[in-house]
Amino acid sequence: MSEPSTPTSPSAPQAEITQLCSRHFTSIPLSLSRFQRRWFLTFPRTYGLPDPDSQRIVCALNSPDYSASDEHARNHFWLNPSCRSQRWNPSDSTTKYSAVSPIHLLLDSSYPVARLTGRIRSEPSNDPHDEGKQIACYEVEVVMLDDGLLRQCYYCLTWEASGKANSRFSPSGNDIYWCSSCEAAGWVNSTIRKLRLQDILPWSNVDENAKDNLYSPTRLMTTA
Ligand SMILES: [Zn+2]
Ligand SMILES: [Zn+2]
Ligand SMILES: [Zn+2]
Repeated sequence: MSEPSTPTSPSAPQAEITQLCSRHFTSIPLSLSRFQRRWFLTFPRTYGLPDPDSQRIVCALNSPDYSASDEHARNHFWLNPSCRSQRWNPSDSTTKYSAVSPIHLLLDSSYPVARLTGRIRSEPSNDPHDEGKQIACYEVEVVMLDDGLLRQCYYCLTWEASGKANSRFSPSGNDIYWCSSCEAAGWVNSTIRKLRLQDILPWSNVDENAKDNLYSPTRLMTTA
């Protein structure tokens, strides 16, 4: 008789955030993040930024494709090279990355995170200088595990690896995650706090204090 399969150990180590490193682009590693059908290059660490939550999105990678099945969209996207000109905060210090092709960043990682499927199609450019012209987009298959994606708390917009606590965030919905303090506060309190935050933001200095938000990609700005 064969051995019964052992159940997953409760003390299994938590998954690490996958870092994209390449000798060709920079000594600073990057990470991948996703909210549903939108993919982003992100900074997996704060790198000494004054506000660790303000500038973690390096660039968007795609325009979401709602024609794909949920299952396919889970680990495939159409890399739209013009998306890198969309940036959350025009005054950020990450502009140097716009000089590097996102394809190169993705495919050149010494730890494999993605590959091209070979499919190419055209999509409208997001660069305003292109005036909507069609550009070639490349289908990318993400080969790393979901657990390696860098997560953001949906409620307070904290990113993983922001503070001293290095615990990973837990799922709280469809591709939504929450940090340990929002999880401890519970769904009701965290939602109320989030709504208050949204009420206050329009009256505060949004341009100066805007935080990256994976969940609100409409707030990405074009800096080109
Ligand atoms: Zn290279
Ligand atoms: Zn939180
Ligand atoms: Zn431009």
